[in-house]
Amino acid sequence: MKKEFFAGKKVLIMGLGKFGGGVDVAKFAVNAGAKVTVTDIAAAERLAEPITQLEEFAAIEYHLGSHERSDFEQADIIIVNPAVAPDNEFLEFARRHNRFITSQVNIFFELSAATTIGITGANGKSTTAALTAHLLRAGSTRKGFKYRKVVLSGNIGNEPLLARIDEISPDDLVVLELSSFQAEQLPQIRKAPKVALLTNLTPNHLDRHGTFADYCRAKENIFRFQRLDEAHPAVSIFNGRDEVGCKWFEKYSPEKGRVCIKFSPDDLSAEIREEFTLPGRANLENLAAAVAIAKIFGVEDQWIKACLGEFKPLPHRLELVAEIAGVRWYNDSIATTPQSAIAALEAFDRPIIIIAGGYDKNLPFDELGKKISEKAKAAVLIGATAEKISKAISHGRKNHAQIEFADSLTQAVEKAGRLALSGDVVMLSPACASYDMFDNFQHRGQEFTRLVLGLKA
Ligand code: ADP
Repeated sequence: MKKEFFAGKKVLIMGLGKFGGGVDVAKFAVNAGAKVTVTDIAAAERLAEPITQLEEFAAIEYHLGSHERSDFEQADIIIVNPAVAPDNEFLEFARRHNRFITSQVNIFFELSAATTIGITGANGKSTTAALTAHLLRAGSTRKGFKYRKVVLSGNIGNEPLLARIDEISPDDLVVLELSSFQAEQLPQIRKAPKVALLTNLTPNHLDRHGTFADYCRAKENIFRFQRLDEAHPAVSIFNGRDEVGCKWFEKYSPEKGRVCIKFSPDDLSAEIREEFTLPGRANLENLAAAVAIAKIFGVEDQWIKACLGEFKPLPHRLELVAEIAGVRWYNDSIATTPQSAIAALEAFDRPIIIIAGGYDKNLPFDELGKKISEKAKAAVLIGATAEKISKAISHGRKNHAQIEFADSLTQAVEKAGRLALSGDVVMLSPACASYDMFDNFQHRGQEFTRLVLGLKA
C-alpha cells in the first residue's frame, strides 16, 4: 500500500473519538487526496473538541449522532476507530458489500518502513512506552546510536501517527503503545512490530472481548505476526513475573528467526533504581521493561542513569496532587482495572483511603477486595460497581477496611477528607472505567484534582 492509494477515494472514518485517533486519520486522508466523511454515533456537541481541531479541513463532511448505511455502501475505504467492536452491525453491513476496511495502526504498518517497537499488556503500557521513548531518546543523542529520531505514538494519546507519516523515515524508531483493540486488527495485514513487549496480562475489557482467552488472543497478535528472519531476528519480550508472559516465552522461544527475552526488576542495577522516582513495584516492572528494550538498541547503563531523573510522570497515573495537613492526595484516575488499583495499593506503606468504583466492565473484584481489606484503612465507593466492590471487600480475609458509599466524586472527596489523618494517603484509584459518571478518565482525574485543590484553598 502507498499513500497514493487514498487519492481520489471516498474514505469513511468511523468513530472520531476524543483521543486524537480520528483527528489523526482524518488529517491524513485529506492530505492524501481522499474525499473524507466522518461518522460517529456521538452527537456534534460531544465532539466539539476534535471537530475544532479539524476546522481548517473544510472539505470534510460529518454525519454525527448516528450512522447511515448509505455511507458504508458508498465508501471505497472505511477506517475504523479501535473502539468500534468488530461485530458492529454497520461494519458487518460494509463487509457484506465488500468494502475495504482498515485502521489507523494497520495503515501505519502498511506505509512505514521505520523500525517499530510495540508495547501491549493489561497495565503499564503508557508508562512503559513513555519510559522506553525517553531512554531511547537519551541514547539517540549519543555517538554510535544508529537511528535518526524516536517517535512515540499509538494508544498513548494525542501524538499523531499518520498525519505526519511523511516525516517518519526508515531510519527512525517508532515506539507504539498498542491496545488490545488495535492489536485485534493486525491479522488483516499479518504484520507486527519488529520488537514486541507484553507488560503483563490480566482480565480487562471483557465487556468487549467476551472471555480472557479472546482478550489474550487479541494481544498475542503482536507476537504472532512478527516477521521471523534469522539474519535480523524479531525480538519478543515478556514479563518474567507474569503467568501469561512466562507461558508465551516458553511457546515462542524455540522459534528460529526470533529472540525471546524475559525482564524483571531484579535485573535493574542499584544505581538505576536510585535515580527512578515513580512510586511502587509496578513502576519498577515498567522500568525493567523499558530498560530491556533500550539495551537491545545499545543504550548503555550510564546513559539510562543520567536521563532517568528528567523523566516526567504521565498525568493521572499515581500523580501527587497535593499534600494537605500531612495527607497526600494522589490522582490515579487512569486505574481502570482492578489490577492497576491493586498496584496502586501496593505502592505505599502508609495508611490508605481509596476512592474506587465506576462503570461496570464485568471484571472480577475478588482480588481487589482482598487487597483493600489488607492494605486500606477505608474505601469510599462510587459509581455502578460500588456494591460489587463493597461485597468483595467484605469477603476479604482481614476485613478491617471501613466502607463508605458516596453519590458523587464531590461527596467521596469530602468523606475521604473527613477520614484522613496526617500521614495518610488518599488515592482516587477507581479500578473501573469512568463512563457511568464522566466523559473519560481524564475528565474524572481533572475533577478530582479540582476538588482536592479546593480543599487546599
Ligand atoms: P496502561 O497504558 O496499560 O493503561 P498506564 O501506564 O497508563 O497503563 O498505567 C495505568 C494504571 O495502571 C495506573 O493506575 C498505574 O498505577 C497502574 N500500573 C502501571 N503499571 C503497572 C503494572 N506494571 N502493573 C500493574 N499496574 C500498573
